[in-house]
Amino acid sequence: MSAKVWLVGAGPGDPELLTLKAVRALREADVVLIDDLVNDAVLEHCTQARIIPVGKRGGCRSTPQAFIHRLMLRYARHGQCVVRLKGGDPCIFGRGGEEAQWLRERGVEVELVNGITAGLAGATQCDIPLTLRGVARGVTLVTAHTQDDSSLNWRALAQGGTTLVVYMGVAKLSEIREQLLAGGMAADTPVAMIENASLPHQRECRSDLTAMEEDACAFELKSPAILVIGAVAACDEIKRSSERGPNLRQLLVSRLSLRQER
Ligand code: SAH
Repeated sequence: MSAKVWLVGAGPGDPELLTLKAVRALREADVVLIDDLVNDAVLEHCTQARIIPVGKRGGCRSTPQAFIHRLMLRYARHGQCVVRLKGGDPCIFGRGGEEAQWLRERGVEVELVNGITAGLAGATQCDIPLTLRGVARGVTLVTAHTQDDSSLNWRALAQGGTTLVVYMGVAKLSEIREQLLAGGMAADTPVAMIENASLPHQRECRSDLTAMEEDACAFELKSPAILVIGAVAACDEIKRSSERGPNLRQLLVSRLSLRQER
């Protein structure tokens, strides 16, 4: 492998969800810069690398991004094989795009390697299909947290008819609830809140749009967690209650049309 920077997704936590390509990059790396949300268990694939934590654990709270950029550049220019290992997928709320552009502008070769993003993994771990024929025709991944504190157009999202998967939403439950209700989303829209998805200490809290803030509080929901908002978030619940009854899709569709009639 020639000297370059690999921006690699480590997946949501379960080391078995790592891609084979990520494993190869870790095996061949000389230096691995890891983020906070990466499960250390994946580092067993590093055969020779120097491991450098660069999240908050790395003690670079003040200027983290500039510091990380410089580190990657320095090692790459010394001919080292650098892996920048990020939780989930590097390009889903992971600054992968920014880092790749910054490095390429300085003549460094960059290769991006997908990871399974937390939103997809969390839903799957809870038996929630994010799209389902006749129920959810799409899925929208959003972050509740923005650098400039600007707000998303939640009201438009409420009307979009897709399953919403919200990252970094734990501290913003009240705002999300208010905005989606104001946008016309049904108060009883199912919500699943999944903490530490795919890890042995994963926890899930089931609720609906009206009660999600109160339920999360009683549950003591903590970051990292994702929210899945939409009819599909009740899929497994309906599946359990209808094992000998009508099929899952019919049940969800009838639940949806009831809601639309109201
Ligand atoms: N690049 C990452 C996202 C980083 S943003 C990815 O693709 O998954 C950080 C947010 O991701 C957290 O606030 C949380 O909302 C979500 N997250 C990351 N890991 C998680 C996990 N194991 N369980 C639940 N949510 C997680």
